[in-house]
Amino acid sequence: MSFFNQSATFERTWAGTRRHILEVVENGKYSHGAKVAELESALAAYTGARFVVGVNSGTDALVLLLRAVGLKPGEEVVVPAFSFGASATSVVLAGGTPVFADIEADGYGIDPAAVADAAGDRTRFVMPTHLFSRLADIDGVLRVARRLDLTVVEDSAEAIGMRHRGTHAGLFGAGGVLSFFPTKTLGALGDAGAVLTDDARIAATADALRHHGRFGATIADFPAISTATGLPGVNSKMDDIQAAVLLSKLTTLDSDIARRAELASRYSEALAGVSGVRKLPERRPDSVFYVYVVEVDARDDLAAYLSAVGVETEIYYPTPLHLQPCFDGLGYRKGEFPNAERACRHTLALPLYPDMPAGDCYRVCDAIRDFYHGRRG
Ligand SMILES: *Cc1c(COP(=O)(O)O)cnc(C)c1O
Repeated sequence: MSFFNQSATFERTWAGTRRHILEVVENGKYSHGAKVAELESALAAYTGARFVVGVNSGTDALVLLLRAVGLKPGEEVVVPAFSFGASATSVVLAGGTPVFADIEADGYGIDPAAVADAAGDRTRFVMPTHLFSRLADIDGVLRVARRLDLTVVEDSAEAIGMRHRGTHAGLFGAGGVLSFFPTKTLGALGDAGAVLTDDARIAATADALRHHGRFGATIADFPAISTATGLPGVNSKMDDIQAAVLLSKLTTLDSDIARRAELASRYSEALAGVSGVRKLPERRPDSVFYVYVVEVDARDDLAAYLSAVGVETEIYYPTPLHLQPCFDGLGYRKGEFPNAERACRHTLALPLYPDMPAGDCYRVCDAIRDFYHGRRG
């Protein structure tokens, strides 16, 4: 049973995708062209962002956002100890230093109280990450950020469709990002990402940085760049072919999200009360089931058993960020962030994608039940 598969989704949306792709091919501009601009407008309408800047990955979106909000060398960004690596490596790539904070005991987002403990004299930003199927405690993060005078930038790479009090993820602070990596809720046929912001200056800077720092339209504008942004740009343009795919899939995004929620409900019903399953994801108003993650006992043994009986699962994420070898130099120790370490030890993502047959859900749950019964008996 596949963890993820979008071939059926593509067949379902192929007519629209084909039309958009043909327009790209005929238009003749295949990178940073009209289709990218069309996608940016459509995403602005979907999220409510004033500005959307399409780039070539969610990771690049984080790096360019951090540079655009004015992160300076040596300045610190508080990031959760439990997240995808890019939440912290983007800070380093943008010239800053990550400072880790633990996640909440009952969730996967940064703990606002831990942000206050982690922040010091050189801390200027905090980057909450919205993981799996729900937002971080964004009200708590905004409160602590206001008190400590920190700017909020969100790693909302997984959070398309997640809203709180009518605001879409990524727009609670200075800006956020989206990832369109194929497995994400809105996935391309390759890599793509975007910066979301309501701030015209941040948008203009990210816009310039993605395109070698160019503000103008012609090669002759190049010399103006460095004086305009003071920053060297990169090549992080989005491919129009990916924009074409995303525009087509955007039309079914809300129904895909509803289908994900339906499958998640089936999982939750079938797994309720199963011994060995410690925690099921909550269904909340902000929930979008990008992935369905449970916490279980004997996680690695269960994952090996499921793999042996043909069920693919994923572990997001086996190692907390503060214990990643690339951050050895920061001097963190094992045991410092117990909630992050708990999540790394117990979480398991089960198969979930909009066109997954409902029967697969039950087969996965049967296999999980068999595993724990076998261990007890
Ligand atoms: C996917 C993801 C990213 C990076 O996005 P890419 O498009 O893969 O570069 C960053 N942060 C989180 C939390 C993610 O899930």
